Amino acid sequence: MKDGASFIPIESISVTGLETVSNRPAAVGAEVSPAASSTASELPRSHFAGPEQPRLKSASVIIPYTRPETVGNAIESVLVQAYPEEWTEIIVVGKGSGAIRGRYPKIIAVDTPYRFPPGKARNLGAAEATGDVLLFLDDDCEAQQGWIGENLAELENEAVGAVSGRILGKSAAPFARCTDYSNFGSCRGNRRRQSRLWTASLGMRSDLFKAIGGFDETLIVQEDIDLCFRVNRDGHDTIHQPKVVVLHNHGRNSLRSFLSYQYQNGRRAGLGVESKYPEASPRNKMLSILANPLLYTVVALPLALFGTLLTVMENVTQDPLIIVFAPAVLLGKLSCHIGILRALIDRQLRGSWVRSGKVRAARTLFEYLFLKARFATPRVLTLYVTSACNAKCKHCFYWQNLNQKADLRMEEIDELSRSLGKLDKLLIAGGEPFLRRELPEICEIFIRQNDVEIISIPTNALLPDLIARQLRRTLALADGRSIRLNLSLDGTEAVHDDIRGVPGNFEKVVETFARARELQVEYPNLAIGINSCVMDANYRDLFGLFDEFPGIFPNIEMPGLILLRGDPYEPKLELPTIQELEALHSYKRAKTGASQPLLWKLADMANFRVGLESIRTQSQAVPCEAGRILGVVEDNGNVRHCELLPPIGNLREKGFQEIWTSPEAVIAREKIVRGECHCTHECNVFESLLAHPAHGLKALVKPKD
Ligand code: SF4
Ligand code: SF4
Repeated sequence: MKDGASFIPIESISVTGLETVSNRPAAVGAEVSPAASSTASELPRSHFAGPEQPRLKSASVIIPYTRPETVGNAIESVLVQAYPEEWTEIIVVGKGSGAIRGRYPKIIAVDTPYRFPPGKARNLGAAEATGDVLLFLDDDCEAQQGWIGENLAELENEAVGAVSGRILGKSAAPFARCTDYSNFGSCRGNRRRQSRLWTASLGMRSDLFKAIGGFDETLIVQEDIDLCFRVNRDGHDTIHQPKVVVLHNHGRNSLRSFLSYQYQNGRRAGLGVESKYPEASPRNKMLSILANPLLYTVVALPLALFGTLLTVMENVTQDPLIIVFAPAVLLGKLSCHIGILRALIDRQLRGSWVRSGKVRAARTLFEYLFLKARFATPRVLTLYVTSACNAKCKHCFYWQNLNQKADLRMEEIDELSRSLGKLDKLLIAGGEPFLRRELPEICEIFIRQNDVEIISIPTNALLPDLIARQLRRTLALADGRSIRLNLSLDGTEAVHDDIRGVPGNFEKVVETFARARELQVEYPNLAIGINSCVMDANYRDLFGLFDEFPGIFPNIEMPGLILLRGDPYEPKLELPTIQELEALHSYKRAKTGASQPLLWKLADMANFRVGLESIRTQSQAVPCEAGRILGVVEDNGNVRHCELLPPIGNLREKGFQEIWTSPEAVIAREKIVRGECHCTHECNVFESLLAHPAHGLKALVKPKD
């Protein structure tokens, strides 16, 4: 270790019971010289003593990396352990971990393209590990001397499945201590006992870790608690061993950071893990019953009081000062329970949205009606995930930008997501989106960081196997969010294949539909739609398609009609007349979507009529919300208010916020508000109608010309 100043000597911790921690380093911060190393390797571990050789020798320390300011201390605290160097490997997993190898050449760096969720990062590290034992250490924690040896000693016991230890705050600042007591109050005790454990420090035998499937990668928090319940279910103990000690440098030293941390923890956890394993303990059973917004409102304060009392009782003998902190600890616990309550409310609303759409739609409608002027970033983002495409559609308006091989990298997409606020919808675009290998992970980023509710993915359906695989992975990562697959189909077999420029495309659409239907059995949050682009080249044929539609695509929603727009690859293509379009729309309604809810049929009708009105009047038939509710980011980083208007900046030159609030963006937005452009872009018309429903009502009641 190069900088020993940041390492707090064990003696400076004002708690008792550390006398059992052995092999304290003579000079923390000194390089582990070959001589020192060989001395260490000759030292028998306390549990090695005696005639029996230990079964577990090699340890893989896995550090998920997100904090450059503290990761060095974490690594160094492992390097100075009095444990044979040849039996220890350190694996650092995270974006930019490759650069850390410059400072610590002996570590194994698993560099990731973006910040992975913690469980996924740890699983990646475990996949690289060769040790008998996996020791997870957070990058803001510092292992105290004896950490490796004591972990292994505990894990020698076959009955023990996982082990953690004392997680002690590094900072003595008052609110840092409040965080320690409120959140880690149960990880400070001096008694070995069965407990839920935390990955701040967690050890497991490699074979058991693999056998139970590692961490659940879909969880953002409490993946460690989830792991513990599975370890217990497998018949093993999860042990708090006080001889295992880490210092936690969480850096939450202010009231605001303390309370916000507690609230966010509660909100992210939301009793999800407890409800998943109600049989694991009476506590889980009780909490799974209370996982209801109304009930939880009643019990939040009593639970906070009870939790505070327990924390004080657990810690008061070794740290009487906790009495002084008790009111703040109560406040922290209450923040956590309010976060849980918020999560329960959100989940209730989300469930309703997936089932009927009414509750969430009402909330979105309210915000679009009354709060849209306050939106700092778009709530509906169209994201071109790739320019790669395997079709040659005559009506493609993006044809000049296809197959450019300049797609935003994952770290750039991650950065974009971080600069956006909450998203209601993510409209994936391309190219062919499923050709983007990381499509599921891209969706996951926006679910995790932007709480996006609905993700729509269009496809030309040319690769059914790939689409089914990618879709399954996306659904597995979607955390129940609504995923909508939109198949493009522009006519009966011959006409569709001709328009798309790929023989056999029609058959592939039918096959992809069947594959998606299979996935719907497993994932009810998957919706399937079909969109048909309308142009003179397929106008008559679409009547025939709608005749065949119910037979080929049973029980599917009414198809959407997308009017030709932009500058198509085949420049001679034109839109049919307004009368022809009305006739086609009426025919579609008569032949398809018999079981469609009335609200959906009305929305489809209003959307279509507003589009026609824009053509008829050559003006915006509804005030367009592009640039306010809606935004577009292309595969090459171009940011636009809408895909038909020029770019207002590029993410490779400036951040999203800077572009979105730039003078150019403001001027372009004002032009939209003044109605200087108009179009029939169905997605934008739909969202604009939500913000201006009177225009939709007007379109519905207005008699046809
Ligand atoms: S319309 Fe879509 S599928 Fe067709 S060429 Fe363009 S990007 Fe590819
Ligand atoms: S009216 Fe059409 S062209 Fe103008 S900003 Fe809205 S979506 Fe874009």
